[in-house]
Order: sequence, then structure tokens, then C-alpha cells
Amino acid sequence: MMLQRLEEEGIKGYLQDEYTVTIDPILTNAIGGIKLMVYKDQLERAIQLIESFEQAYKEAVVCPQCRSTNVLYITQPNNVTNWFTALATWIFGSYAISVKKIYKCSDCGYESTTLPENA
Ligand SMILES: [Zn+2]
Repeated sequence: MMLQRLEEEGIKGYLQDEYTVTIDPILTNAIGGIKLMVYKDQLERAIQLIESFEQAYKEAVVCPQCRSTNVLYITQPNNVTNWFTALATWIFGSYAISVKKIYKCSDCGYESTTLPENA
């Protein structure tokens, strides 16, 4: 679990449902409908850690449909969730990273918002 791994690195945070609005910590990274919340002074470190975790995991990803390893981690166009996040950001005066990313197989076109299981 991402949060647990961050805590091992000294980052304090918690998970929050996507549709709950908070007034203090900032929204950082949407993970399958759950937002991982961290405090602002640890944000940069947390992002670096998340990226390195995802990079390591991604290299081992295999497409569940065609078994290809050409699974890309790409940015998806803005959606309603991101608009809402942007609004919350404006209201509460902090900032958010609201980029939604998906995993896409470049061979068969399979898409997933979460890391495909390496079955
Ligand atoms: Zn595929």
C-alpha cells in the first residue's frame, strides 16, 4: 500500500474518499478513487517517492489482455473530478495535483486507471 510505504519514508498522510472535501491538507494523488493526503511541507518528498514507487512497479507491469510489457503510464484529459479538485483548490487556497493518469497497453489498447495485476 502506497501510504504505508510513504510512512516508512517518514511521510505522514492518510487516505480519503474522492468525494469528501477537506479544508486542511492538500490533495495530492488520486489512486483509484481514493486520494492520498499529505501535508504541504512534505508534498515534494511524497511526490518523488510516489513517482519512484510507480516507476519501479510499472517496469514490471504486464498487460492482462495480451501479456505485452508495452504498458504506458499516460495522462488522461481533464474530467469532472479534476474540475472539482481545481475548484476545491481555489476555495481552500492550497494547490492540488489533479492530473489523472492511466495505464494503457500500446499493443492491444487495454486501459486501466490502476496498475494491472501482475498475475
Ligand atoms: Zn495488451
